[in-house]
Amino acid sequence: MGKTMNCRLVLLSFILAGFLNSTGAAIDPQYHNNDEIYAEILAWQQLYPDTVRIDTIGYSHEDELPIWAVKISDNVHQDEDEPTVLFVGQVHAEELIGVEITLAMISDIMEHRFQYNPYPYAVWLQTLEIWIIPTLNPEGHQVVMDEWDVSFRKNKHDCNQNGIFDYSTQGVGNDSDGVDLNRNFPLNWVHGDPYLCSTGNEPFDYFRGFWPLSESETQALWELGERERFSFSIVWHSSRTGNYSEKVFYPWEWEDGKTPPDFEVIDSLGIQIAYTIPTLSGGNYYQPVPSGTAKGNQHDSFYAYFGTIGFLIEAGPGIQSPYQTALEVISANLPGAYHLLNRACGYGEMNHSQLSGKVTDIETGLPLPATVTIPQLDSPFLKTRTCDATHGRYRRYVMPSTYDVEVRMRGYYPQTRTGIFANPSGPPPYYDFALTPKPVHHLSGEVQSLGGDPLPCTLFIFGEDVEDTILVSTDGQIEVDLPEGEYRLVFDNAECVVRNDVINLDQDLYLIFQLSPSAILFFDDFESGLEQWIADGTNPYLVRWGTEAADSLWPGGMVATESPDTTYLPEVENWIEIAEPLNLSEAATASVRFQHWYYFEPGYDYAQVEVSTDQGDNWEVIAGPYWGQDIGWGTGYASLNDYCGLDDVRLRWLISTDASMNEQGWRIDNVEVAASDTLVSDTPAVQLPREYALYSVYPNPFNSSLTILLNLPYDQVTNVTVWDVAGRQVAEIYQGNLRKGQHRFTWMAPASQSSGIYLLKIDGREKSEIRKIIYLK
Ligand SMILES: [Zn+2]
Repeated sequence: MGKTMNCRLVLLSFILAGFLNSTGAAIDPQYHNNDEIYAEILAWQQLYPDTVRIDTIGYSHEDELPIWAVKISDNVHQDEDEPTVLFVGQVHAEELIGVEITLAMISDIMEHRFQYNPYPYAVWLQTLEIWIIPTLNPEGHQVVMDEWDVSFRKNKHDCNQNGIFDYSTQGVGNDSDGVDLNRNFPLNWVHGDPYLCSTGNEPFDYFRGFWPLSESETQALWELGERERFSFSIVWHSSRTGNYSEKVFYPWEWEDGKTPPDFEVIDSLGIQIAYTIPTLSGGNYYQPVPSGTAKGNQHDSFYAYFGTIGFLIEAGPGIQSPYQTALEVISANLPGAYHLLNRACGYGEMNHSQLSGKVTDIETGLPLPATVTIPQLDSPFLKTRTCDATHGRYRRYVMPSTYDVEVRMRGYYPQTRTGIFANPSGPPPYYDFALTPKPVHHLSGEVQSLGGDPLPCTLFIFGEDVEDTILVSTDGQIEVDLPEGEYRLVFDNAECVVRNDVINLDQDLYLIFQLSPSAILFFDDFESGLEQWIADGTNPYLVRWGTEAADSLWPGGMVATESPDTTYLPEVENWIEIAEPLNLSEAATASVRFQHWYYFEPGYDYAQVEVSTDQGDNWEVIAGPYWGQDIGWGTGYASLNDYCGLDDVRLRWLISTDASMNEQGWRIDNVEVAASDTLVSDTPAVQLPREYALYSVYPNPFNSSLTILLNLPYDQVTNVTVWDVAGRQVAEIYQGNLRKGQHRFTWMAPASQSSGIYLLKIDGREKSEIRKIIYLK
């Protein structure tokens, strides 16, 4: 019944409002529909197959129409070591002009491809890779071009899952299906767009989608952005109200004047681009606007995640001008795009400054996708900038100044160069880095109960680099290869006090870690509110701590938060404290464990766990600070070993925020304080056996190489050999004097060796040991 009515309503309004757009005229037939877009770009590809390539980067969400990207460059089929620039003609369906601008741009570049005037077309083709997407929203474009609804904005996502495309031609913004693709990108997605949808969850005209990148269109662009790491981009829109017409938006100037670290270079380019594009009223130029918005748009997200300096241009005086007007908008906009291409390749009378170079492995010469940090241009808001994996190239467009460059890669020693001057003119200075690999060491050992039995647990290994974080599920045995360095180990067994260790892995280590069975001193799953807690803050009137029902991904029922069902308050420092002070006077070891997720403005707002041993006068941090996004549930840990023996230990969970950018905050559950009166060694002892020990042979069976770990109590002559089952010696792996301590051997079975069972024999001064090994080809 409902479906039928819906259809009739749609049909009726179609007949009534039908072919008229907001200006009362039908769409000028000279605007390109999808078939005409494809015919035109296909013609260019057929004419110049070495210079023009059409890629289908994805498909539209509902109708699975192809999304075409046109790559233009010499050697277009190769991924050359060149800066990449992205142009997108259309995101919002009713905004047609950008499609025409991008198609005109392809024509103009291809027609003048050998020329240097009035623009250096030939230089662009030789030195850049230009990517042009006429429309990111082909199914929405079809709705508009077929004049079902000329004020349609979104894709056709069937939000209410009724199997029907629900749209309305009654005014603008009443289309209940569809997602606003320029609200669906990750950065600040959570804020949504309050315009016409107060919670951000209503499927209305500015609907942000069901989660970040929930749409196949935004996913397709995201994957392209992640792969190509565009230096620059322009995405054309046009303003339906005219309120935003003829403006150039870029990242970003948020509340409190918060700007990103590249703002000076972004802002200067934004101003230059804007002042290249005359308005149709004549005389004046487009207005540069550092975007004040924070709601899941493409250009802010690409900048934060991939380093792309991106501009959103609201082109033309309206959305569907007569084509005669469109032609004027096109010719006004091309110079803005060309200014960006010149900046990308360092052409003309402008600031050329960039920092660039390659990062390779010093031994193999192969490119490395290393992390490159420029401390003068760093911010916790930006995802780490990495070199492209194909060329090892890093590239950053900067203002002329002096910079440092820090290069890090997991498994390599970091390198820094200081005082690099980025020239304002001429070719950029290239600073290459050849990184030296760190030696890899083997960490092995056993997690044990106090009685010495193997104990299953979850082991987290945190290294210097974020990428070092490793989760090991162990039945009690530890076997892991890690680059040399310092690591923090956290052992989590539900029945035991959490154990924290820091080890310096500068050689192969075999370690024994014992865990103490715990007594629970405190536990709260927040099912009865905050009964066991005191909520307080520096301004008691701004304390809102309470509980809310957990999201559907978390089975934990009620959870504690400062901001039940909303975002946190600005300029607060407040907390919940366990009401009853903890008595650790009998404890030999103690720990705290809790589940949480968080989302705080990076660099400005944060949460942490604190402890006080003087009745709350002074507090020190034992876990955190947590900031940025970690919106999957995870476990927080802290050791309380430093407070054992004290009878008044207070714990609190605190958030601290500044005046602007209020996010979802902190959700906490299952807070547990555990202690044991049994002392285990703080530092895991290296096992030095009285006799020599062959403590690990792995993998076994083995395929190409076998690793043998040996531990000697004193210096001795040692012989390591391999025998076949008929008693013939097959290989001698080592013979000679070995120092006491740990040793590691690797045996590569020769290709001629047949599969089967062999015997590994180790002869020491007082003892021989034989281990059966199986070789599988
Ligand atoms: Zn738009």
